[in-house]
Amino acid sequence: MSKQKINKLIIGTNNKGKLREIKNLLPKNIEIHSTSKFNLKSPTENGKTFKENSLIKSKYFSKKTGLVCLADDSGLEIELLDKNPGIYSARWGGRHGDFDKAIKRVYRELNKKNKNWKEEKIKARFVCALSISYLDKKIACVVGKVEGSIAHTPKGKNGFGYDPIFIPYRSKKTFGEMRPSKKYRLDHRFKAFVKIKKFL
Ligand code: IMP
Repeated sequence: MSKQKINKLIIGTNNKGKLREIKNLLPKNIEIHSTSKFNLKSPTENGKTFKENSLIKSKYFSKKTGLVCLADDSGLEIELLDKNPGIYSARWGGRHGDFDKAIKRVYRELNKKNKNWKEEKIKARFVCALSISYLDKKIACVVGKVEGSIAHTPKGKNGFGYDPIFIPYRSKKTFGEMRPSKKYRLDHRFKAFVKIKKFL
């Protein structure tokens, strides 16, 4: 399997924002399937790291569909919050993926840690683990990161999730304020993609 070129795969995510980003990164000659038409729930992500959770997803969706699966697990690590929300990034949005709520929680937790947090640079990074599996077999698993800081207030309507509060290193704008085409080339998913490309 690993020696053959992959010409067809399923993207193992039910998150529309991620699906769009991953689709844009894949070579155009690959036939891409999404989870929506298989009507599959997401598996329980009970791994302890981004890599473990990514592999749980790629193996699960591959076994359910019989297709090679590319899946990611990603999230935002905030230094002052001991790297939280980290692998719990999606869960901070609650059952309905409400990211206004998740962002409010970030600010609440920062205030709890240090009410003068705005006087400091709050270091943070987005992390993405990408994996490719076929049935129960791992073909590849890599990690990409983008370093930056937390904005004092949410800014911008582009993107998804925590994009309005993340300012990548050397930028003045949040991911939420950037053109999607610019964000794609800077972010953690793209960096992981560069590493996994040789397996595709
Ligand atoms: P999971 O990988 O499906 O567990 O979800 C990770 C969560 O991290 C997402 O629901 C988003 O809230 C957040 N996240 C991951 N990547 C990004 C990104 O590029 N921008 C904003 N939020 C992100």
